[in-house]
Amino acid sequence: MDATESDSSVLVASDSVFSISRPSSASSIHPNDIPNDKPSDLPAGAPISPLFQVRHTPTAGRAVFATQDIPEGTIVWRSEDLSLSVLLREYRREVCGQCFGYDYGRDLDIRDKTVGFAFCSEACQEKWREENGEIGVQAWTAVETFVKKRSKEDSDMVDTDLPRPKVKEIQQAWENVAAQAALIRAARESEQTVGVAVTKQHKKAVQKALQQNITPDVMSFCVSGLVWRYLNPNQWERVEALADDKTPYHSSDDLGAFTRTYLHLLAILPLQLLPLVTAESLITLSSRDSHNSFGIRSLEDDGSEFFGYGCWPAASYFNHSCGPNIEKRREGRAWFFTAGKEIKAGQELCITYLSGEERKLSRGKRMLRLKKTWGFDCGCERCEAL
Ligand SMILES: [Zn+2]
Ligand SMILES: [Zn+2]
Repeated sequence: MDATESDSSVLVASDSVFSISRPSSASSIHPNDIPNDKPSDLPAGAPISPLFQVRHTPTAGRAVFATQDIPEGTIVWRSEDLSLSVLLREYRREVCGQCFGYDYGRDLDIRDKTVGFAFCSEACQEKWREENGEIGVQAWTAVETFVKKRSKEDSDMVDTDLPRPKVKEIQQAWENVAAQAALIRAARESEQTVGVAVTKQHKKAVQKALQQNITPDVMSFCVSGLVWRYLNPNQWERVEALADDKTPYHSSDDLGAFTRTYLHLLAILPLQLLPLVTAESLITLSSRDSHNSFGIRSLEDDGSEFFGYGCWPAASYFNHSCGPNIEKRREGRAWFFTAGKEIKAGQELCITYLSGEERKLSRGKRMLRLKKTWGFDCGCERCEAL
């Protein structure tokens, strides 16, 4: 099972949404690490360290095991491989688009209105532009221009008790937009080909797509992932290697938001990105993010503010325990994983997917929450102890 941080508010949009990443992206290697040959059966993007090993388990998918005794307080891993992230729109003025810095709700000084992000410093703004490149700046500018023109957005999808769409419904929904997508793609491609006539039908397909409701946070998720893939073509396999969720959409509305976003993005993104704007790309992003994203929260107040979420592929290999021996902590765009207690060689390294508040829930409520959000029955020591 791969990691995700639970969060009730995450369910608003995030369950299936994704995020942006860092070009350097490879899973980071701890500075003290001795280079280690990657075992041949290890998935791309899995963490490698002399302190632990990723192994397949009969019941819990891939898991991380200590290969030596690890003293309490040891930093066992640092993940800087952010592949995609969503900064929820309501936090865009208060949270730095680059380092996720936050100052108790104060609006940040530097606002880059063309791309729709604010930054804590000029250095962060420059870094953001550098990492997103010209294509990223164009893509985010297109999204921002489009979103600003719309007065009405889809309402937030908060009803988490709706049935999740099954595999068949998901396939059908994507098939239903395939023909319109092809027309929009052809209309866009004709922009660069002299002599290709665009028919009325093509133009109508574009217009129709542009008039549909928008879901800006879903759009951010998709754009973040697509720009990241464009800039890091060799890293895509790290995302593909993550455990996938075949039913990642938490409601039919959520699924609809993705298929509409697909058409919107075909209509507005820079032409160079269009080959990547496919149903397959977007489905991969949703299905991998679903159980692998980490919440991006405020660092104070026990993380009470939920800004968005992101996918750090290497960090997804740590399984969950309700009594974890690894504590995780975010610093800027990196996650640090530290031994919270003495760990013996051979023990599994676990983090918790529960938020601060959820950790205090009773066993029954905790198990229910884990089942609902991550789809597994917790068999950790704390749950089994009764
Ligand atoms: Zn910053
Ligand atoms: Zn448990």
